[in-house]
Amino acid sequence: MAMGFSEKYDVVVVGAGHAGCEAAMAAARMGLKTALYTINLDLVAQMSCNPAVGGIAKGHLVREIDALGGVMGEVIDAVGIQFRLLNTSRGPAVWSPRAQADKKLYRAKMRQVLESEPNLRIKQAEVIDLVLEDCRPGDSATGCEAVLANRESAGHQPSRRVRGVRLLDGRTVEAGAVIITTGTFLNGLIHCGENQYAAGRSGEPPSVLLGEAFRCLGFEVGRLKTGTPPRLDARTIDFSQFQVQAGDPVPTPFSFRTKAITQPQTVCWITYTNAETHRAIRENVHRAPLYSGQIKGIGPRYCPSIEDKIVKFPDKTQHQIFLEPEGLDTNEIYVNGMSTSMPIDVQMAMVKSIPGLENADMIRPGYAIEYDMVQPTELYPWLETKKIQDLFLAGQINGTTGYEEAGCQGIMAGINAGLRAQGKAPVTISRTQGYAGIMIDDLVSKGVDEPYRMFTSRAEFRLHLRIDNADERLTPLGYQVGTIKQKDYDAFVEKKLRISTAAKFLLETRLDPRSRVGQEIYTRLGLMEGGHLTAPSPLNGAQLLKRSELRIDDLMAWVSEGMQSALHANPNEILSHEEARRVETEFKYEGYLRQQERQMEKMKRAESRCIPEWFDYRNVSGLSHEVVEKLTKVRPLTLGQASRIPGITPAAVSLVNCFIEIFQRRAGEQNSSQSVPAF
Ligand code: FAD
Repeated sequence: MAMGFSEKYDVVVVGAGHAGCEAAMAAARMGLKTALYTINLDLVAQMSCNPAVGGIAKGHLVREIDALGGVMGEVIDAVGIQFRLLNTSRGPAVWSPRAQADKKLYRAKMRQVLESEPNLRIKQAEVIDLVLEDCRPGDSATGCEAVLANRESAGHQPSRRVRGVRLLDGRTVEAGAVIITTGTFLNGLIHCGENQYAAGRSGEPPSVLLGEAFRCLGFEVGRLKTGTPPRLDARTIDFSQFQVQAGDPVPTPFSFRTKAITQPQTVCWITYTNAETHRAIRENVHRAPLYSGQIKGIGPRYCPSIEDKIVKFPDKTQHQIFLEPEGLDTNEIYVNGMSTSMPIDVQMAMVKSIPGLENADMIRPGYAIEYDMVQPTELYPWLETKKIQDLFLAGQINGTTGYEEAGCQGIMAGINAGLRAQGKAPVTISRTQGYAGIMIDDLVSKGVDEPYRMFTSRAEFRLHLRIDNADERLTPLGYQVGTIKQKDYDAFVEKKLRISTAAKFLLETRLDPRSRVGQEIYTRLGLMEGGHLTAPSPLNGAQLLKRSELRIDDLMAWVSEGMQSALHANPNEILSHEEARRVETEFKYEGYLRQQERQMEKMKRAESRCIPEWFDYRNVSGLSHEVVEKLTKVRPLTLGQASRIPGITPAAVSLVNCFIEIFQRRAGEQNSSQSVPAF
């Protein structure tokens, strides 16, 4: 250990939120000595806002985290108290799991998972600064001061490597790589009516010194805002006034490794705001920090506060409210849909205006929080900062919102910090491979001007990026880097075999019209007359599944029997419900899938055209000053990435392509002329 450092790790993760937990677990599972530092160890994986995981597109992200060997899926499966598969009335591309969580159990389970990982140490401490390569531990100058001094003397910003972190208690910790996942804590400022105070989130201190360090280091820092609704006491609510929302009778787990959901399940309730609620808000809107000019940060457009909804949609007479339990052994109820930073007396009036909530007692008021984020165009697609080598950022600090978005970046940062510490090249996920790739590519190419959350509409190839095939898309990568354990990989390979055997059977076998299943199916399709098939020949499974009247469940008895001999297995173990649905989707949507594959090939070709690091956009005649500035700022790695930067036209991309060729040819000619021996 270098002198002055109190401890040494391969990877240090700062923050035990949803990004930090995944990052730390990934690095540790890869065999790296990892430490996770957080302000309050009792609040590991705290759900700052709603007590739920998943939802449309977010459920996809959890599946991808799980497929890569992450832990969010298994944790929510263990503590979920209401599971629903959303969007099932639409196509399988947009089906997405969601679960209410028991908040306290979620924290406890995540901590147990972290503590059971042999390579991981969890520690309570506030990190206040980074130690950079030329900054000796114990120096009076902080990391950022040293960089500033250095930058001034050199006249430019030098490239630096992170060497560790400095703690509030004076210790310094050495690290091969550092991952910062500090969520809303950097210079956090809470607003509740006219009151405002510094905090990381309700009840926790902000990270001011680390926030300042990022500014001093020259990172482009932005200011965003998010909000949360009040929590009510269940004992003071008349639930008979609401519509009950039950979970699915058969819960769909998030994790590919979960065998069954064992937690007792509960219900949620639905109600609506009314004219009285809207009046209370309208009459007090001048006291709303959002409208009084008190809040400067930009909030999520797609997830507005209730006061924002009333102002922006004045014609709407009601807004839906979900009452969601925060756990099985608590009276705390989350009022989903009523995110607000109105003064507390107005919040009470809003709540009490709703029938059933007239006597409701507020346990915690809603509030908004403004915080610093680092513009993600500061990052490479493997989440390492461009300014400081071996420094990774993940989660809300990168301008995203949501536990799932944070977790997904966390696992990718953990994997890449781990690879760096092992001296290996980083890995990325492409837009054709997963929502994780789409999110990171959007962040690093476009930056953010409002909190970024995932939507299925952000995906070009939705039908290909389904929840049921996330393992097929990403588990091999997890196995390659070491986040997927051998036994889980073996189970994945066996599952693939079951699916391919079923697909082969369906493709190669015609359903015998004389069989029991055959009689039933052909009759249902109107292809039987007097006990005889009217079609020219019996249909195979693939042809049958293309018929909209049929589902895989209708054919399962036949498929199981047929596969039994191929796999020598018990018919009940042949295909799980989800595996069967996966086979069905592949056949039913075969045409669309093949079409998407062709388009994906096109995208892959653009992605494979790399822009050399030495390429100087100022030398491309024909590019506008604005385009040169944008490309120089983002420094895209490929022509594909360049094309997705806002304001970069296809013409600009093709010009860059031409110039890369010209410069490469010239460089080649120079090299070859140099290699000609002089006579
Ligand atoms: P967090 O979960 O915030 O975790 C940050 C961690 O870093 C904490 O453990 C903290 O203790 C630690 N930390 C901070 N600074 C330091 C330091 N200097 N040293 C050591 N440890 C440190 N998301 C939605 O999707 N929808 C919403 O409606 C929504 N509303 C929200 C409302 C509020 C009030 C808040 C606070 C958040 C809301 N979110 C919402 C966002 C969601 O909570 C976050 O996106 C998610 O938790 C981010 O995960 P993270 O891991 O990046 O950070």
